Order: sequence, then structure tokens, then C-alpha cells
Amino acid sequence: MHSTEDVLQKLRQRGLKLTPQRRAIVERLRADHGHPDADDVYRQVAASMPDVSRTTIYNTLRELVDLGELVPVEDGGSGGTRYDTNPERHHHLLCIRCRRLIDVQRDFDGLKLPPAQRAGYRIVSSQVTFFGYCPDCQGV
Ligand SMILES: [Zn+2]
Ligand SMILES: [Zn+2]
Repeated sequence: MHSTEDVLQKLRQRGLKLTPQRRAIVERLRADHGHPDADDVYRQVAASMPDVSRTTIYNTLRELVDLGELVPVEDGGSGGTRYDTNPERHHHLLCIRCRRLIDVQRDFDGLKLPPAQRAGYRIVSSQVTFFGYCPDCQGV
């Protein structure tokens, strides 16, 4: 994600008003590398700005995704969408108990889909998620 001022400037260019709530959403996202979902962002922003609406949260998240500042990540299994502030290509580790989702920086050079299995698709990217139990959830 770019700097708060850059991101707010881009939102303004898309016709969104620069409200204190929108600034708080952007600042919250920039400080949170834990792949929050929309509810997490709502709870965190509402803690200091109780008048923020869920609609504002959802609209702002959608605009940030359109701008390429956020990348939606499927929270495998729960059906929810998490938001990633890291637009670089990377992979994930997901705890299947507490849903903690962290980045994995590694090239999976061998990860190629042979033409026979591409069903005619032109592949543009791929993402690997490893599922397991984080240190806090092992032995619980
Ligand atoms: Zn866990
Ligand atoms: Zn990530």
C-alpha cells in the first residue's frame, strides 16, 4: 500500500470525499499486516470512530481493491474475504483454527500447470496457501 496521503489522493480522484472515517480506514489498513476482513476493519475503526458505517467500510475497501492498493485473499474454507496490503506476488500460511493468515515469500519455481491441464486458460498468476496450526494453536 502506498502512503496514506497518496492513497487518499487517489480516492479523491475517484470522486470519494476525504472524510476522517476514510482516513482512519486507510491508516488502520496500513498498520495491519494481518490480512483483516471487512468486519475486522469495521471493529478497529469503530473503536475510535463509533459513527463510521459498514457501508463506508465496504465502499472504501472496494475502491482500494479497484485501485490495486488492496488485494482480496480468500480465507480458504470460511468463505470470507481477507484484505492484503501487500500487492507483491506472494503466498500464505493459514491457521485453520484461529484463521491467522501470514505471508510466505518464496518462489515456487516448480509450480507450473502443464498445457494439458490448463483447459485452454492463459495463466497470469497463481497463489499457494498452506493450511495448518499456528504455534499458539498447536496442542490446544
Ligand atoms: Zn492459530
Ligand atoms: Zn499476504
